[in-house]
Amino acid sequence: MKKLEEVLRDWEAVIGLEVHCELTKLHTKMFCGCKLEFGAEPNTHTCPVCLGMPGALPVPNRAAIENIVLAGLATNCRIEKHTMFYRKGYMYPDMAKNFQTTQGPKAFCMGGWLDLAVDGRGAEERLFWKDLAAGDAVENLTRTADGYSARVGITRIHMEEDAGKMVHIGGGEGRIAGATHSLVDYNRAGTPLIELVTEPDLRTPEEARLFMQKLRSIFLTLGISDCSMEEGSLRADGNVSLRRRGSETLGVKTELKNINSFKNLHDGLAYEICRQAEVLEEGGQIYQETRHWDPSKKCTIVMRVKETADDYRMFPDPDLAPYDLSDEFIESVRAKLPELPDQKAARYERDLGLSSYDARHIADNRFTIDFFEAACEAAGDRARELAKPLANLALNDITAYVNAGDGIDFAATAFTPTRGVQLVVLLAEDAISSKQAKEVFAAVLEEDKDPAAIVEERGMRQVSDTGAIEAVVDQVLADNPDKVQQYRDGKTGLMGFFVGQCMKVMGGQGNPKLINQLLGQKLDS
Ligand SMILES: [Zn+2]
Repeated sequence: MKKLEEVLRDWEAVIGLEVHCELTKLHTKMFCGCKLEFGAEPNTHTCPVCLGMPGALPVPNRAAIENIVLAGLATNCRIEKHTMFYRKGYMYPDMAKNFQTTQGPKAFCMGGWLDLAVDGRGAEERLFWKDLAAGDAVENLTRTADGYSARVGITRIHMEEDAGKMVHIGGGEGRIAGATHSLVDYNRAGTPLIELVTEPDLRTPEEARLFMQKLRSIFLTLGISDCSMEEGSLRADGNVSLRRRGSETLGVKTELKNINSFKNLHDGLAYEICRQAEVLEEGGQIYQETRHWDPSKKCTIVMRVKETADDYRMFPDPDLAPYDLSDEFIESVRAKLPELPDQKAARYERDLGLSSYDARHIADNRFTIDFFEAACEAAGDRARELAKPLANLALNDITAYVNAGDGIDFAATAFTPTRGVQLVVLLAEDAISSKQAKEVFAAVLEEDKDPAAIVEERGMRQVSDTGAIEAVVDQVLADNPDKVQQYRDGKTGLMGFFVGQCMKVMGGQGNPKLINQLLGQKLDS
């Protein structure tokens, strides 16, 4: 199979996402008063409504509707004031009602968008933007100083409910194949879910990944869900089709179901793009089907041939009256909107003097936002001065640490924001080198001690006393008159040798910046 970059030279990928998010911060289910509790004894949170007993009447959960309106306002959607709930046929045993309550053509939130900032290696997946001048736009893409920005349309966000959970006994790994019987737990049936559907505006797996990451950051900021991709409270389905570059016609799409991590979303789509290209280039045909990405085998496999909307037999729910939202309600929700990631980035740039690149990337992730904001707070009057090194810490060391361990909660580690400030202060005062700072960072996490204590214990404090360093420099130059002559004759590569000799004399604790500076002054004079 060809590589992604090779495929994308000939083919354009058209990608859309469907994102499901469980509203985990609510206390009760979507249409009844049953408690929402993860991990409770099976079937202890059920009632005639969520079990679909005849005559039971559902009542929409107002707090859930407040949540979806928040999500809509935060993603530039139009809030529909007159909507309805629909029934969608659902013939699986994990939903006792045999239908799922969802929304029809008009959902609570319609026609929104998000702008993605794409830069660095991720921007390489999209071709041709480099030919544009900064500020120029083509289709949904605008060239920026360090990459491009892509506007992704949001078709709608609608309200629906989750199904229960099946446990298959006797088969391998809880699968239905080979099972002797199955158990069903209805505790989760009726959990409020929102589903966000994008326009097919995404063009690369990286854009899809960034969209999910941004959406997660927004939903976490709104406080409507814990957005755990591992536990399934946030999950994505990706649609992808290919067309020849220059063609306007859409190809047949396949759907990747239930992607549970950013990496799997990226890698699954990348694989599917390459697979489709291979089939098409060999004269084959793409079938509209649902596929499953297997991260261990690194391939997608067919789950089922796609249903059409007709198969669901959607119709307005006769038990639920049309739902009207008043202007007062919408405005009261708008008043509750917290500062969103894009607004945060603008503030970091304006008030803390960060570059637009740093500001955007801090605002991309909840853990970088939480660390950076708490650290700036702890830095007090020095926040603006220390903002840049704190941003470096968040974007380099902390991001690498979090990415290396799947699902690490950085806020729960020993590297507190206060310790982050202590570390960058040591660095700013030249007490340690940037290389030593990395060692201290790792040691704080491992030993749960303050940076200063680690520097002291390990005797790391670098010597920045100009007089002491000058004496060493003079000594090293006096000891190597032949090399000094060679340097002055043009062999400037010897600088490394002199720095190394000084460091050796100082037991590795000399401030390299000062050593370089003093050597330069003396050798070039
Ligand atoms: Zn119930």
